[in-house]
Amino acid sequence: MATTDLSNLRDVLQAEAEDLHRQLAELETDGSAAPDFDENFADSAQVAAEVGENQALAATLRDQLVEVEAAVARIDQGTYGACEACGGPIGADRLDAMPSARFCIAHA
Ligand SMILES: [Zn+2]
Repeated sequence: MATTDLSNLRDVLQAEAEDLHRQLAELETDGSAAPDFDENFADSAQVAAEVGENQALAATLRDQLVEVEAAVARIDQGTYGACEACGGPIGADRLDAMPSARFCIAHA
């Protein structure tokens, strides 16, 4: 992969990481806001369900953020595009589809 492509990709991944940070910050802001509980059990259950959904979403976003930041780190280290299991090339098609891929198709 050409250096300029990697540089562009790094920008894209960096922007994605910032977007994930922003989404996580918004979720945490929502979660820390005093929930509007009242005496109605159904409403309280609804609030609890929404908090649960936010936590699940936050966990997903954090996983994505870890993957994206790891990909940026691999670009910086010059190991981007190499499978972490066998060291072989991950393949341009696979990286196009999933830029933060850590493993070749055989080790996915
Ligand atoms: Zn591999």
